[in-house]
Amino acid sequence: MPPQVVLASKNRHKLQELHRILESHGLDVELLGADAFPDLPDIAETESSFAGNALLKAREIARITGLPAIADDSGLCINALNGMPGIFSARWSGNHGDDAGNVALVLAQIDDVPDARRGAAFHCAAAIALPDGTERVVEGTVEGAIIREPRGTGGFGYDPIFIPLGKSRTLAEIPASEKDAISHRGRALEALAPVIAALLD
Ligand code: IMP
Repeated sequence: MPPQVVLASKNRHKLQELHRILESHGLDVELLGADAFPDLPDIAETESSFAGNALLKAREIARITGLPAIADDSGLCINALNGMPGIFSARWSGNHGDDAGNVALVLAQIDDVPDARRGAAFHCAAAIALPDGTERVVEGTVEGAIIREPRGTGGFGYDPIFIPLGKSRTLAEIPASEKDAISHRGRALEALAPVIAALLD
């Protein structure tokens, strides 16, 4: 029987992405989504960094389920906003998950910022915690720039206003597979795969 691992997320897209990455590393684990445990509480992200929040979630889910748990935390850091919205990316405009509101607010806040200073990066921390207290965290980033008007209908969040370095299209204009290959989350999960392999060996 392959070892069971819980992903501290109900997001099917994240579950499938992690599944693909673990498979490509030849890792034989049974990956369970948080929805396999209907009584899991929502865990407040109270830390001040992506890594802190990812570890907090993984630790709590490992404690409750008694299984190794993986969690991630991510967001957009804009240079001209001193790294904000950062860990507040999901609720920057006030309501959690209001993608259109968040995008509109960010664009208004840096309206006066010239093109040369519109650099930004998506960051993702991915953590694994074991019930015995062992824990690890890794990070992935994708650098780029914020444009002035949203473009594209794919992706989510801030994708329509972010062009990765060296590309001409936003993350909302490229196919999901292309985004996964360069994204902060893809890179963090790629970095986590060998760590998972070593811990579950
Ligand atoms: P989470 O930590 O994955 O839940 O992401 C927090 C927030 O960061 C999301 O609600 C989005 O606003 C933003 N974000 C994270 N990853 C991405 C991405 O790949 N594209 C666009 N926005 C993202």
